[in-house]
Amino acid sequence: MRLVGRIAIPDGEVVDLGLPDVRGVAGADPERPDDPRLLDRFGRIATDLRVSLTDRCNLRCTYCMPAEGLDWTPSAELLSDDEIVRLVSIAVGRLGVTGIRFTGGEPTLRKGLESILRRVSALRPRPEISLTTNGIGLARRAGAYAAAGLDRLNVSLDTLQRDRFTAITRRDRLLDVLEGLAAARAAGLDPVKVNTVLLRGMNDDEAVPLLRYSLAAGYELRFIEQMPLDAQHGWQRDEMVTAAETLTRLRAAFDVTPDPAARGGAPAERWVVRDVPGGMVLGRVGVIASVTRPFCGDCDRTRLTGDGQLRSCLFARTETDLRAMLRGGLPDEEIARAWRNAMWNKAAGHGIDDAAFTQPDRPMSAIGG
Ligand code: SAM
Ligand code: SF4
Repeated sequence: MRLVGRIAIPDGEVVDLGLPDVRGVAGADPERPDDPRLLDRFGRIATDLRVSLTDRCNLRCTYCMPAEGLDWTPSAELLSDDEIVRLVSIAVGRLGVTGIRFTGGEPTLRKGLESILRRVSALRPRPEISLTTNGIGLARRAGAYAAAGLDRLNVSLDTLQRDRFTAITRRDRLLDVLEGLAAARAAGLDPVKVNTVLLRGMNDDEAVPLLRYSLAAGYELRFIEQMPLDAQHGWQRDEMVTAAETLTRLRAAFDVTPDPAARGGAPAERWVVRDVPGGMVLGRVGVIASVTRPFCGDCDRTRLTGDGQLRSCLFARTETDLRAMLRGGLPDEEIARAWRNAMWNKAAGHGIDDAAFTQPDRPMSAIGG
């Protein structure tokens, strides 16, 4: 199989990506094939770019950041709107990236979000554009985001009980989130996904109510295992609600069977939900077992922090300073080459379950979740 500017798909057909042929500038490692895309040593190809727009947030989820917040990145250190659009255009135009997800921190706090969406949606080939948000403010802005080019979004929602929401996020904003979800759906964003982190002794009895709610409203619910990415470094493995426990809870109320549709690079294992075995399909539910059943072997992600550092993984121990390259006046192809080389060295897996695992210095809110 030749890997230059084309994808060979399983039935033997070759799809031309229209990417430049960059033989001769593949990078420092002679073992890296001459290929414009973001390959790594383990045969993975990153096509999904996560961009953190800010590390700030208007909630304070206990599993993410402390009550007092964090030392936010000074705005001069954050990428400007122009810098973000330039890096995304390099990713899409030179590196074969096909999907862009904006995240944070809380990406809707970024003033230029609509303009960034508009400019990214004008890129060719047009990437699919998605957003991960806590949903605050979405009730007012969902329509504008859709009009600016947003295709779909994920809204984080851990509980349907107002007092619990206030305890988990340290803000009394449950109703805003529920209204935001409804507005996203009304704006035609499809699918609307709900991300839930179950916390032992806090909301782990809500797996079934959250699924009932999501099925009734037409949202796709995904449970995410809690990961060691909190700023406080307080994560403990035995306190994490595992994917297996979540499924056991769901099975008390539903028939839940593996979805035969291929998972591809998607992190969620999808399950078909019926009321009884052989009964009517009510919908689907995702379970993201990042810790107990990691999907690193299928990972197709590359990441940019708000301050322009490239990371090959949430748990990477090294970063590549693309902001310095941008501000140092390097041309697009030099930046693309640095990006390719960094991704070539992506680790095989995050190793959370290894005895030698050490949590990255930066929390999820700074890396971009
Ligand atoms: N503020 C936005 C939000 O909450 O959706 C986007 C950023 S947030 C870091 C992205 C996702 O990461 C959310 O769904 C959140 O629940 C999840 N998350 C945050 N900390 C986590 C952790 N320690 N383990 C697993 N998921 C976490
Ligand atoms: Fe903010 Fe999202 Fe972290 Fe909650 S999970 S504190 S909403 S960044």
